This record gives sequence, structure tokens and C-alpha cells, in this order.
Amino acid sequence: MEDNYSFQDYLRQSLHQLFPGSKDDGAKNNVLINCPLCIKEGRADTNHHMSICLGNDGKPLFYNCFRNTSHRGILTSDTLINLAWNSPIAIDPMLLSAIDEFSKHNSSYSKYRLIKDNKINLSHLNTNSAQINEMKRQYICNRIGLDLPFEELLKDKIVFSIKDLLWRNYIHQYTRDERVINLLDQHFVGFLSNNNTSISMRNMVYNTVNLGKSLNYRYIKYVILQGMPAGYYIIPSICNITQRLEIVISEGHFDILSIFYNLYNADRYNRIYSCIGGNSYLNIIKYFLCDMGIVDPIFHIFIDNDVKKYVINELKKILSPLNIEVYIHMNGYKEEKDFGVPKERIKDYSYRLI
Ligand SMILES: [Zn+2]
Repeated sequence: MEDNYSFQDYLRQSLHQLFPGSKDDGAKNNVLINCPLCIKEGRADTNHHMSICLGNDGKPLFYNCFRNTSHRGILTSDTLINLAWNSPIAIDPMLLSAIDEFSKHNSSYSKYRLIKDNKINLSHLNTNSAQINEMKRQYICNRIGLDLPFEELLKDKIVFSIKDLLWRNYIHQYTRDERVINLLDQHFVGFLSNNNTSISMRNMVYNTVNLGKSLNYRYIKYVILQGMPAGYYIIPSICNITQRLEIVISEGHFDILSIFYNLYNADRYNRIYSCIGGNSYLNIIKYFLCDMGIVDPIFHIFIDNDVKKYVINELKKILSPLNIEVYIHMNGYKEEKDFGVPKERIKDYSYRLI
């Protein structure tokens, strides 16, 4: 390579050849491609969900899919080969060695934890229309069998009014049309993700009011800022990640709220409470270990009773070599299938998996 032809230029041009249809971002710091890992998993991508950082300003070479938090990492010769599985041309071996050479000299990985880089700041959430909000508060409280005030639920990052949240944070560009926003505002209650980039919204009139094809789901994910990892719903707590931490994971949002209040007495110290909300247990565990860098975790996984045995066996197979304690919990109360219920309907049955 000549002096005036930088590694970044070389990498950019090579990526364009390997991934037809790719493009540069405005500042030419990243190449945006259709996520080959999504495509491999059978999810078509024509909207350039993956960005590959070219390593300007001493940054490491990241690749990051905005649709799936497990499609990301450091670009190395191995990961590039994996990404280019569908590429029309073979990868130049010189490119592979140039990537590894670049990464070897770039030792500042630890500065770039995705969790810190990708967090957007939102101001304290407040509420508007008193009547609707009271209805939402009662809906949540009924689900978990408690009478909690607004202030407490706001601490848990529950969103009563999506319009209010966006307005208060000067976000005037909606990612859904205005009619949808109005319906979300009226009929849905939201759970803001840990990095504040998305809201999981529960339809309170599911099966009773027809809101139209795009909204007739139990849950809708509203993306606040496009092009950011969605994050997970995590109840805010104070943790020292270098100490032993209990990580409590449930299937759904109401499960974790009920577990937090009814089984853990709302203890916000050195424990993490989160839910997978449509993602997988394995992905969220990887997120805590790899992205959050938690060194000494104990996992308590509160599964729905219909979770298939092979899912648990797979977890055991993958986590056993890591020597991490894992406990599985199920609600043994008759006629209940999960933990998203009042305390008197929970019979916590648990066993040690690993
Ligand atoms: Zn992807």
C-alpha cells in the first residue's frame, strides 16, 4: 500500500466489492451493508442494518447489526470470512492479514464498550393525560397484584405516554406515522430499554379492540432512534460489576416486574433484573458477559412453563464450560404458566442447572 492510500481506503473499497449494494455513511467512517448474518438466518435485509467501522481515529474495527444484538463484534480475519459467506468474490488474503495487523496495533478495545457508546440520554419521564395514565397504572398494578405509585413505576422506566416522552426529549422525528403514535399513546404501556433506544409496548386492548393490522399484536417495539442496538428492558439498580452479581432474567416484562417486587422485595442493590422480551436467553446472557463485562455472575432464569427442554439443555451445554452458576425457576402454582401474576399466585420452584 502506498502512503496516500490508507488502510481505511483499502478496507472500504474491499468491503464494497465483497458486499454488493453497500454504501458509505456521511462521514465515511463506516460502511453500511445488508446484514449477511440476518440473511443467513433467513431474514432478508435490504436496509443496510449492519455497519462496519473502518477504524478511523484509533477506533477498533467494529461490525454491528442494528436488528440483532448477537450480530456484532470486532472485525478480524475470521469474522470477516464469516460475514462474507455469501460474497460474489473470494476475499483477498492480503486484506485478511491487513485487518489482523491493524487490530494488533490497536489495543484500545476496552475504551469502546458498546453499552457506553450506544446509550442515548433521555430526561426524566413524566406523564400527561391523568385519566389515561391512571388506567395504565392500574393495568400494571393489577397484573402484578400491587398498588404502586407513578413515581415508583417511572423509576422502573415504564412509559405511560410515548408522545410525552418524545416531546420532552426534543425527538420530533417519529419512526412510525402519527396515527400509529396516537394509538400507541392511548392503548399501550411501554418499557424503555436500558440504552433508551427502544420501547417495548404492551397492547392493553389486545383481543378486545381492533387497532388495525399493524397494531393488533400483544407487543409492539417502538424504535426511538434508528440505527442503534435495541438493548433490553432492565430495571434500574446499582451494581458493582467487579463484584459477584445476581442476574435475574425472565421471559416477559410483567414477569420481571412481579419477580422484582414480589420475590426480591424491590432490592435495587447488586442485582440485575431483566427480561428477554422476544429475544433468546442465550443472547441476553452473552450480552451481560461480553458487552457489559460482568465478571462474576450467578444467573437466575425464570422460565415460562412451556419452554422446551432442549432450550434449557442447550443453555447447559454452552454455559457449563464457563463454570457459571445457573438456576432455573418455574412457577409451580396450579393453572399459572409464568411469573407475571400477583404474589399469591406464585409458587417459586427452582433447581440448580449448572
Ligand atoms: Zn443482523
